[in-house]
Amino acid sequence: MDFQLTEEQRAIQEMVHDFAEKEIVPRASDIDKSDEFPADVFGKMAAQGLMGLPFPEQYGGGGADTMSQALAVEEVSRASGSIGLTYAAHLSLGCGPIYNFGTEEQKKNWLTPLAKGEALGALALTEAKGGSDLAGSVAITAALKGDEWIINGSKMYVTSGAVARSITTLCITDKSKGHRGLSMILVPQDAPGLVIGKVEEKMGLHGSLTTQVFFEDCRVPKTNLLGGAGEGFRQAMVTLDGGRIGIGAMAVGLGRAALEASIRYAQERNAFGKPIADFQAIQWMVADASMELEAARLMVAKAAWLKDAKERFSHEAAMAKLFASEAADRACWKAIQIHGGAGYLRDFPVERFYRDNRLTLIGEGTSEILRMVIARNILKNQI
Ligand SMILES: Cc1cc2nc3c(=O)[nH]c(=O)nc-3n(C[C@H](O)[C@H](O)[C@H](O)COP(=O)(O)OP(=O)(O)OC[C@H]3O[C@@H](n4cnc5c(N)ncnc54)[C@H](O)[C@@H]3O)c2cc1C
Repeated sequence: MDFQLTEEQRAIQEMVHDFAEKEIVPRASDIDKSDEFPADVFGKMAAQGLMGLPFPEQYGGGGADTMSQALAVEEVSRASGSIGLTYAAHLSLGCGPIYNFGTEEQKKNWLTPLAKGEALGALALTEAKGGSDLAGSVAITAALKGDEWIINGSKMYVTSGAVARSITTLCITDKSKGHRGLSMILVPQDAPGLVIGKVEEKMGLHGSLTTQVFFEDCRVPKTNLLGGAGEGFRQAMVTLDGGRIGIGAMAVGLGRAALEASIRYAQERNAFGKPIADFQAIQWMVADASMELEAARLMVAKAAWLKDAKERFSHEAAMAKLFASEAADRACWKAIQIHGGAGYLRDFPVERFYRDNRLTLIGEGTSEILRMVIARNILKNQI
């Protein structure tokens, strides 16, 4: 396996890095402190061709690959976790299912505006009863009446749900069939009966909108069914596999931001007459964080590479997301330790990285669920 980046991948990485340094880094702290949703930044990202990066040009995308997508998410997340999550979710959860399972017409009508960056997309899987046991917790129903689906129920934690042009929603369309009776339906922002609930107050990722969504006799055309009826659960699993590469990349970006801030601080801060970087205790923290983030990055790259090679990547994506999120968590923990008291203050960015990264251990499969998935693969499939 050759992990060397192609010229195109390297060019995208550099372009996104420079863009994020100029347009996102100077705003990141204010976004966190004010809970501002930075809509204008997504407009600028659209102008750079980033909002549809991995999708074909015929649908308004950039025609790049998953590896480039991971590099872009990493660079954006290094600058701001809030923008990183919104971006990762837009690509994997908003655009991904429409591209993977939509008809040609659905791709034209629903994917193209998202890939062009005219609007954000969203995916609503999780409900109040629980996100881990997806098949067992979906209660929202969609019943066919004439030429329309009538949707009733609610969803939680929908990233960008408050601003998305469409929310792809997992619903029960045939209760008698268990998880084979679940289907995905494209719900436009202006669908009658769609009510956007409150924006959640979160520990971190303050610039990312997380919302409840209510469906009150919500009416959607019959043709908005994504793929076939009863395919929703499988579609959700496939979507989460791809999404885990994005969340892994997001964690690597946040971990890198924490490490880079630590290195700078350790070289500037003096104690006992010398820079704290001269103490072995600090050096070992820097070494461990650097090593673990490099391993995480390679795991994310391997999963992306497999996906691009059209090989099975579910197992590798689960491992990459699990390892990267926990490696970044440890890197952020160390960053606060290296900063001492300053690390605990909001004047320094490392406490924000710590808070922002915490989601990566929960969203799109908690660490516990991923360990379960990985062990099952190993024990049953002998991977
Ligand atoms: C900021 C944010 C953004 C999100 N964005 C989206 C989105 O865009 N779309 C969407 O659909 N969802 C989204 N989510 C929801 C997210 O995917 C879920 O929170 C996650 O899947 C966990 O589900 P839960 O919160 O219901 O926890 P639960 O499923 O209730 O789990 C609670 C605890 O029990 C553990 N647990 C559960 N089952 C097992 C088991 N079998 N073995 C061991 N431990 C177990 C879990 O690991 C966890 O520690 C988002 C969440 C957040 C916080």
